[in-house]
Amino acid sequence: MRRKLAAGNWKMNGVAADLAEVKALIAAHPEPGCEVLICPPATLIAQMNWAKGAHPLALGGQDCHVKAAGAHTGDISAPMLVDAGASHVIVGHSERRADHGETNSEVRAKALAAQAAGLVAVICLGETEAERDAGATLAVIGAQLGASVPESATGADTVIAYEPVWAIGTGRTPTPAQIAEVHGFLRAELVARFGPEGAAFRLLYGGSVKPSNAAEIFALPDVDGALVGGASLKAADFGAIIAALAAA
Ligand code: PEP
Repeated sequence: MRRKLAAGNWKMNGVAADLAEVKALIAAHPEPGCEVLICPPATLIAQMNWAKGAHPLALGGQDCHVKAAGAHTGDISAPMLVDAGASHVIVGHSERRADHGETNSEVRAKALAAQAAGLVAVICLGETEAERDAGATLAVIGAQLGASVPESATGADTVIAYEPVWAIGTGRTPTPAQIAEVHGFLRAELVARFGPEGAAFRLLYGGSVKPSNAAEIFALPDVDGALVGGASLKAADFGAIIAALAAA
């Protein structure tokens, strides 16, 4: 049985004053009915961990270095995220692949670093609009999955997020049939590679999820939750998405 997961990616947004949104969220959803994760900027993880008190909200980083420590100015390691109170880390987000040239093999190395530190890695995959228009979506996703997900990954330490690049922050979402096609493909690939364990990996959809489209997306087979950017910043919107997931 896969536990549903509502994950928020705050990206480079949020200062201490925004902890008020998290306090409002946990006050409104003391028992959310699904797993809830927020990945704030690294500067806020420890403060958010303090602010959440005994609430089951999980916290995550948005990236980690492949090494545990060393001369890498500006980078943050997986053990440092654990030390700050994180249990998860996003790796391979398309903004990092685009802005920092991260390759599938680097993403895989980061996922391994996360595993070694005891973090759950949320590995992101997704096609560009040009790749979709060229009919290459499943080929691109299959190649990313194969090369980004380590052989040692399990359903307990790895979550896969399908995030079409053209749907992130644009307000555009794929049709339910397009989401279902990719999630069905991902599940089949995972089972082919990992055997019965392939059924244990949670598959999140990400890309312009909002309160108005969440229920339709969560009703799809093999959608185990969402990775939410913009709509995770406000307690009311993220709370509505959490409620839709808990009810799905
Ligand atoms: C994301 O960046 O992971 C994301 C899904 O963003 P948004 O929900 O804003 O499209």
